[in-house]
Amino acid sequence: MSKTDLIIIGGGAAGLMAGAAAGELGLKTLGLERKHKPGRKLLMCGNARCNLTTNISEDRMIQMFGDPVGPFLSPALKAFSPSAAQRWFAANGLKTVVKAGNKVYPHTERASDVLNLFTDRLRDGGVSLACSAVVLNVEPLKDGFRVTTDNFVVEGKYLLVATGGVSYPKTGSVGDGQQWAEKLGHGIEPYRPGLIGFEVDPGVIKGRVGTVYEKVAVEVRAAGRLVGETRGVYEIEKWGVGGTALTDASRFVARRNLENYVLKVNFAEGGSEEIRPRGTRSIKEAMVTVGGVALDEINPETMESRKRPGLYFAGEVMDVDGPTGGYNLQAAFATARLAVAAVGRRLGKKGYAETRPAEPKHGPARNAGGRRRRR
Ligand SMILES: Cc1cc2nc3c(=O)[nH]c(=O)nc-3n(C[C@H](O)[C@H](O)[C@H](O)COP(=O)(O)OP(=O)(O)OC[C@H]3O[C@@H](n4cnc5c(N)ncnc54)[C@H](O)[C@@H]3O)c2cc1C
Repeated sequence: MSKTDLIIIGGGAAGLMAGAAAGELGLKTLGLERKHKPGRKLLMCGNARCNLTTNISEDRMIQMFGDPVGPFLSPALKAFSPSAAQRWFAANGLKTVVKAGNKVYPHTERASDVLNLFTDRLRDGGVSLACSAVVLNVEPLKDGFRVTTDNFVVEGKYLLVATGGVSYPKTGSVGDGQQWAEKLGHGIEPYRPGLIGFEVDPGVIKGRVGTVYEKVAVEVRAAGRLVGETRGVYEIEKWGVGGTALTDASRFVARRNLENYVLKVNFAEGGSEEIRPRGTRSIKEAMVTVGGVALDEINPETMESRKRPGLYFAGEVMDVDGPTGGYNLQAAFATARLAVAAVGRRLGKKGYAETRPAEPKHGPARNAGGRRRRR
């Protein structure tokens, strides 16, 4: 069986960007995607508007990711920074716009345009993407990997696993990549829901469902100590409490495995409210998965496994998660490009676009105060 240079498993944000980068380098590449179309989760991003990245410097982004994710992502974000991502999309025919909170979107504000850009880039780069190809198994060979799908078997010199986390499993991300990684000797950090709302006692939401408070500051407190602080929107939902300030707060809860904690919401116009949640909502509803392939077993300079040479990871399959606002797609894109650049170097191909930091632009301020959401 002749070996392709690179097999990419997963046609989500990371796998698609990896395919585009492989095409730029002229690598003989095959992508495999279990769903009949790629990018199911990408299409849902930012309410189908696709918040591609955040318009801040890579150093600020690394700080915002926090430990242990920020330091791990540092080489990837320095090589493909938020400003480089914006330039890359513009150079590929999709200009971006910066909206409130430094959130970057395609100027059309359509996630489908982002997906179309990727599938066009794959086609132009000669990268094949087989859809409805469910990968069942990966095996290391003496000089590469054998990948078995439900219909065929392929071999590649290098393997990039970009199968995502375990949230929104209907989009195709069900934890397969983590299982293969474990079989190949990797540790898996336990899964927790990241970027998710909280369930609360009915009294907290009674008579308030649909209320939105802008520009709140939320303190996450445990054992009387401040664990983290977030800013953004606070929304009362029929299932509990959410909004960007609360969903970002859920990352602190997940990363620190908090069980007894208080969320103190400080309102812009003064006053505060203390919430003792019953817990977060289910991981199936979470925007990201905290947990996955352990970071200390992956080389952050290349995304290559320290356990199995030739095996690479990108995106949420790793124990990588960030706040709301474009951080997670930026992480998926940057890790994918870093991995493909490393594979390219092993195959004697160069051409990786290096970047320089951007000055942040500030988006328009939102109105303060509580208001009823239109339904
Ligand atoms: C509702 C929602 C909105 C979001 N909005 C934003 C946003 O606006 N901005 C932002 O930065 N982040 C956002 N995120 C997070 C972001 O979507 C993810 O972090 C990102 O998509 C992760 O990319 P990935 O490629 O690692 O994984 P995924 O996008 O999950 O892709 C993994 C792919 O691998 C495929 N796959 C899995 N197993 C197999 C197998 N065995 N064989 C073949 N293929 C397989 C899956 O079908 C899937 O297509 C959002 C998430 C959700 C759920």
